[in-house]
Amino acid sequence: MQAAPGGTETLVLPTVEAMLARLLDDSTTLVAVFDEHDILRRSNRAYREAYHVDDGEEILWADIMRRNHAHGRGAIIDADDIEAWLVTALSRRGKLASRSFEVDLVDGRWLWMCETVLENGWSLAIASDVTNLKAGERELRQLTDKAIREAQTDSLTGISNRRYMMLVLDRLLASPAGNPPDSICLIDIDHFKSINDRHGHEVGDEVLVDFSRRMRNAVRPSDTFGRIGGEEFMLVFPGLGHAEAERVLARILRKIRNHAYVGRGVEVFYTVSAGLVERRRSDDARSIYGRADQALYDAKQGGRDRIQVAA
Ligand code: GH3
Ligand code: MG
Ligand code: MG
Repeated sequence: MQAAPGGTETLVLPTVEAMLARLLDDSTTLVAVFDEHDILRRSNRAYREAYHVDDGEEILWADIMRRNHAHGRGAIIDADDIEAWLVTALSRRGKLASRSFEVDLVDGRWLWMCETVLENGWSLAIASDVTNLKAGERELRQLTDKAIREAQTDSLTGISNRRYMMLVLDRLLASPAGNPPDSICLIDIDHFKSINDRHGHEVGDEVLVDFSRRMRNAVRPSDTFGRIGGEEFMLVFPGLGHAEAERVLARILRKIRNHAYVGRGVEVFYTVSAGLVERRRSDDARSIYGRADQALYDAKQGGRDRIQVAA
C-alpha cells in the first residue's frame, strides 16, 4: 500500500515479484528451477502440465522422468531401460553452465530446452514450443544433437567419455578458482587384466559397467564422472577441496572393496586406486591432469586400493 502523492487516496501497486509470478504462470514458455540436489523447487503452469507435476510438488528430476516413463507421458524417452537412460542423462545434467537441446513430448509437442546452472548447483530450465518449426530443420537439429551426444558418451557404460571429460576440465580451468577450490581425481581399477584373464572379457566389461553405476550413485549431482580409457576414470569435484574430496573417495573405495560384482555366475571382488589433486591458481587442464596422473601412479606403487593426494 502506498499513499498517492498529494492526496488522501491509497492505491495498491502490484509488486514486481507478484507480477512476475502471474506472468510466468500465464506464459506458454516452460519454466522450472531445481536446487543443488536436483529437486524441483519452482515451476510454472506450462512446465507442470508438460511434465505432470502438481503445483508445489517438490520432486527429484530423475523421479519426474521415472514416473512419466512408467505412465507413457511427458518427454519421449528413447530407451526401454529407464535406469540406463538416466545414467547417461544424469552424466550430462547440471555439468555445464549452460546448454540447449530439443525434447519431444509424448503429446506431440517439440520443445527447445535451455538450461542454466549456477556454481552452487541450482539450475533453471526454460523451454519454448518449437512444434511449428519446419520439420526438415528439426530433423537436422535432432541428428546433430544425437551425434554430439554419442560423440561425448562412452558406449559400454553410458557415462561421459574422455572427450566430454576434457571439455568439462577445460571449462572448469577457464573459470576463476573459487574458495574452496576444485579437485579432480583419476581412478584406475586394480589388477583389471587378471579379472579379464580369470573370468573372461565379458565379465571384465560388466565390472566396468558395475563400477560406473556405483560411482554415479555416490557423487553429487554437480560432480562429473567419466571413463577416460580402458579401466581408467576421471571425477571432477567443482568447489570441493581435497580434504572433503578425500572423504568422499574413501567412502567410495570402502564400498567398492566390500561389495562384489555378482553376475554371469561369478562373484568378483575388486578394488581401485585413486590420484587426487586440488586445483592451484596457476593450473591449466594439462598441469592439473599431470599431477593427478602422478598421484595415481604413486597410489599404485604404494600398494593399490588407496587414495594418493598430490603434493
Ligand atoms: P594395475 O593395477 O596396475 O592398474 O593393473 P591392471 O591389470 O589393471 O592394468 P593394465 O594396464 O596392465 O591392464 C589393463 C587391462 O584392461 C588391459 C586391457 O585388456 C583391459 N581393458 C581395457 N579396456 C577394456 C574393456 O573395455 N573391457 C575389458 N574387459 N577389458 C579392458
Ligand atoms: Mg588398472
Ligand atoms: Mg590402467
